[in-house]
Amino acid sequence: MIKTHADVLVAGGGVSGVAAAVAAARQGARTCLVEGAGFLGGIGYSGLLRHICGLYLNGDTMPVETINKGIAEEVVSLLNKLYPDNKVKKIGRVYVLPYSREDLRSVFDSLLNAESKLQVLSNTTVVLVKITDEEITGITVENSEGKYDIVPGVVIDCTGNGEVSTLAGADFDISLPEELQLAGYVLRIKGIKDYDETLQIKVPFYLAEASEKKVLSFYLRFSTLSPGDAPDEGYLKISVVVADGPEGRQRAITDALSVHRYLADRLEQFKDSYIAGTSQAVMQREGRRIRGEYTLTEDDILSARKFSDGIVKNSWPIEIWDRNKGTIYKYVPKDDYYEIPIGCLKVKGFKNLLCAGRCISVSREALGSTRVMGTCISLGEQAGMAAANKIKHGNYLLSENKI
Ligand SMILES: Cc1cc2nc3c(=O)[nH]c(=O)nc-3n(C[C@H](O)[C@H](O)[C@H](O)COP(=O)(O)OP(=O)(O)OC[C@H]3O[C@@H](n4cnc5c(N)ncnc54)[C@H](O)[C@@H]3O)c2cc1C
Repeated sequence: MIKTHADVLVAGGGVSGVAAAVAAARQGARTCLVEGAGFLGGIGYSGLLRHICGLYLNGDTMPVETINKGIAEEVVSLLNKLYPDNKVKKIGRVYVLPYSREDLRSVFDSLLNAESKLQVLSNTTVVLVKITDEEITGITVENSEGKYDIVPGVVIDCTGNGEVSTLAGADFDISLPEELQLAGYVLRIKGIKDYDETLQIKVPFYLAEASEKKVLSFYLRFSTLSPGDAPDEGYLKISVVVADGPEGRQRAITDALSVHRYLADRLEQFKDSYIAGTSQAVMQREGRRIRGEYTLTEDDILSARKFSDGIVKNSWPIEIWDRNKGTIYKYVPKDDYYEIPIGCLKVKGFKNLLCAGRCISVSREALGSTRVMGTCISLGEQAGMAAANKIKHGNYLLSENKI
């Protein structure tokens, strides 16, 4: 078996993993980014999502800059160069940046290609983790050419669901199956007639009616519609409940497709519409939350708590997609933010393992705020810098990295 070495090994190339790899390489660390799929961006690419959340401070003033600097700010500026008409948008009480996944991919490519110390292995999965004395001493990866070992200095788990930390034997929390928040499956719909904003109200109204009549499952009423790039285009984010196993996932997809059929049969504007694309998979809002040295709580978020080792700021509300009540929002005080400390990224019981993105150490409620893409980008960047610091200086957090 071939053996190579990386100062920093980043597992998972979603938005957090790309930011982690770029940040580590910029600090001079020999970095390897390992991604199981054939594309980068994770849910941010494959999910057919339309808005990057968590980039801005919430308040009455339209934000002109991002709440976290660094890679989040660069991503916004590069996206704006590709599409200068793109503007920050207010939805309800929050600000979001509309984006297209192809633009995001192109921005990520340009950031990654600029780094000479960075090697990207796509279609390659981490399958085994070797531990000696609370330290990861080997990572086995597998692709179509076979398996090989990478000896890492520091490992950053950006796999969304904490796959690498779990392989390493780290503790984690996960909600009980019956308490899991609604998952999402996105349909790109073309051929909608006279798309206007009233459709965004009509769709949930029709779905609520269908669920009252028991024609559609109850939770499907919590689906939403947002406009696409063309006048006849819309994105249906369908709320589904997923039972365990491949059959459960297939049932969720069938459920989601029934929403489009129902709307096409009942709503004049949907009559000639068709499904032009779907998200790659049913996407779970909740996964494993890897236990770190600190676990962020709902109270930390709602009291806008600051930490002496805070590394990322966030103002995004707690969003709980309850399967009986729909979305419940709890807001951070206006014009204020909370901080995420480095302890949420340091995996408990391991000397050289960090996690970033969706799987950091937070309570179920706190995850409802920390999981958005803007925040995941900054978490990834901070993890990458911390890992490189550890290689160079022996410490994760240097005073200049505190916020
Ligand atoms: C239904 C839904 C709707 C959402 N809507 C929005 C929205 O509108 N705006 C917003 O900002 N956020 C939204 N989010 C949240 C956000 O998209 C995700 O939480 C965020 O993108 C997570 O990024 P990540 O990098 O942590 O993980 P992911 O995007 O999950 O990336 C993880 C990557 O790791 C790879 N991987 C997994 N296991 C391995 C392994 N063993 N080896 C190698 N690679 C591996 C995967 O292939 C994947 O590419 C939504 C989430 C869901 C579920």
